[in-house]
Amino acid sequence: MRREADSVAGLLNDATARIAAALGLGKREARLEARVLAVFAWSVSPAWLIAHDTDPLSDAQTAQFQALLSRRLAGEPVAYLTGTREFYGRPFCVSPDVLIPRPDTELLVERALACLPPDQAVDVLDLGTGSGCIAITLALERPLARVTAVDRSAAALAIAQRNADSLNARVEFLTSDWFDALAGRRFDLIVSNPPYIAAADPHLAHGDVRFEPLSALAAGDDGLDDLRRLAKAARAHLRPGGTLLLEHGYDQADAVQALLRSNGIRHPRSWADLAGIPRVSGGELSE
Ligand code: GLN
Repeated sequence: MRREADSVAGLLNDATARIAAALGLGKREARLEARVLAVFAWSVSPAWLIAHDTDPLSDAQTAQFQALLSRRLAGEPVAYLTGTREFYGRPFCVSPDVLIPRPDTELLVERALACLPPDQAVDVLDLGTGSGCIAITLALERPLARVTAVDRSAAALAIAQRNADSLNARVEFLTSDWFDALAGRRFDLIVSNPPYIAAADPHLAHGDVRFEPLSALAAGDDGLDDLRRLAKAARAHLRPGGTLLLEHGYDQADAVQALLRSNGIRHPRSWADLAGIPRVSGGELSE
């Protein structure tokens, strides 16, 4: 007799329960993850899973799925297992060399777009581009903008370049530790989602972040090391009146505003993410 777990629905039910238990996720989220893994393992569409839920599975199909499931149960992020994550409505390829794009960062993109007129060829810089999701989104949303993106990690830049190629975005990528390779260059808009978590933050020991590059997450005792460096160096690379926008931690808005103010940015402001947390701060360089 065929066991229930040998059907598509049976396998997904079983995986949902195991993901929820192992990772402490709610049932809805766990089911979504199980489905994403199945779609990837079998190269099928989400609709196929529904249409074929009572189908029996071959041993090969079961094995392909179980291999991914056991990695997920050990904590590996879904985005690294499937190699992709959506950002601002577009698919970005990701690997453990880059931070997984987060919905929070769409706020940084929205604020950047708000100060990029569609009909002007302005110069934009993204610092610590990682997967390239910010720079590439800005380049695609503002085709006239000249977008430069830097990262000190060559492995990250290879991913970013691959994303730019597959999404047909025109971005200049440079290997650079923040502004180091940008001597003498000035921009109308500088954006960054730098590392901003305190090195001892217990958050770093839980969930997906354990598998992400620590260099993209942690920034010294108070998490402000890189934000300090960026705020200080930005004025030498902004045109007068140019805008600096920085993503930061949930409790860093006041500190970042103070850093901006003491480095020539007038009237810095902060904007809240979808959870109501001030997540991006910025302003314009005094003329
Ligand atoms: N928002 C991310 C997190 O809390 C951190 C991203 C970053 O450090 N830039 O996991």
